[in-house]
Amino acid sequence: MIDPYGRHITYLRVSVTDRCDFRCVYCMPEHMTFLPKAEILTLEELDRMCSAFVGLGVRKLRITGGEPLVRRNVMSLFQSLGRHLASGALDELTLTTNGSQLARFAEDLRACGVRRINISLDTLDAAKFEALTRWGKFDKVMAGIAAAKAAGLAVKINSVALKSVNDEEFDNMIRWCGEMGFDLTLIETMPLGEIDSDRIDQYLPLSVVRSELEKRWTLEDTDYRTGGPARYVRIVETGRRLGFITPLTHNFCESCNRVRLTCTGTLFMCLGQEDAADLRAPLRQSESDGPLIVAIDEAISRKPKGHDFIIDRRHNRPALGRHMSVTGG
Ligand code: SAM
Ligand code: SF4
Repeated sequence: MIDPYGRHITYLRVSVTDRCDFRCVYCMPEHMTFLPKAEILTLEELDRMCSAFVGLGVRKLRITGGEPLVRRNVMSLFQSLGRHLASGALDELTLTTNGSQLARFAEDLRACGVRRINISLDTLDAAKFEALTRWGKFDKVMAGIAAAKAAGLAVKINSVALKSVNDEEFDNMIRWCGEMGFDLTLIETMPLGEIDSDRIDQYLPLSVVRSELEKRWTLEDTDYRTGGPARYVRIVETGRRLGFITPLTHNFCESCNRVRLTCTGTLFMCLGQEDAADLRAPLRQSESDGPLIVAIDEAISRKPKGHDFIIDRRHNRPALGRHMSVTGG
């Protein structure tokens, strides 16, 4: 799949549920309205969707959500998608998780062919963690992280940088990730969906974080790229990678290789734009994948050049109405 700007689309992120067992303050309001279950694709339909994309050239699949591991029987989806790893059609099957269910599932994920996972963790302070996630249990997540490591999964920790919340903690996070053998990625808050608080209060530019960190750590630029919005450095003192995801202060769109599928079968060609394509109707229209493939090709031909997020005082409202838990981040 090649889009109008010559970019090869080789990476599909799939949100398998919009539901979650946490209510992170930057992600959702406490009383979040979820999609009616009837609108959600079945696991078999999700497998068909993913397999169609793999057939069209997708080499990397990331399962996300909401919290992907709270979807009932989700491990059967991982198992069936694992066949594309075995056949060589897929290079990587991975997931982004809040870690709450990993103590249960880490071994099974490894058995399905998962080798690397992203775990979201914004703080190492238990009380702060529980305030930030509202419903999360810190000890359970730490046990999940330990289980992932014990199962031999390579772990990358994702932390959203939040002003006056975790901005004092990055040194500690870097040290801990170094000890655990994890890479770390810092993420700027993105203006997606209404939340209970004000995003201006949370927004912390990573350019500021980086120049602070450079006073204490040796950050070596690397040319490591994933085609996404992260730029990576190597921290000489720990030997681990540190990524910066800066959708608001940096333009990363020219190398974009990805599209996002929601759990209702809507394909977003760009995280920062409203345009989307319904793939559920063509999927259900026929037992053959013909209509689905036509719809995917048509959607890719509409992939926009880039996004235009802004957070400022005048535009103090979400740039997009949908939450990150819908498109999966
Ligand atoms: N529940 C899983 C988790 O937390 O890892 C997967 C889905 S979550 C939506 C994916 C990532 O998006 C997480 O790392 C989360 O911190 C991040 N995220 C959520 N809302 C965000 C926002 N408004 N701005 C930036 N990152 C956000
Ligand atoms: Fe759930 Fe992940 Fe959103 Fe937190 S960031 S509320 S864990 S979907």
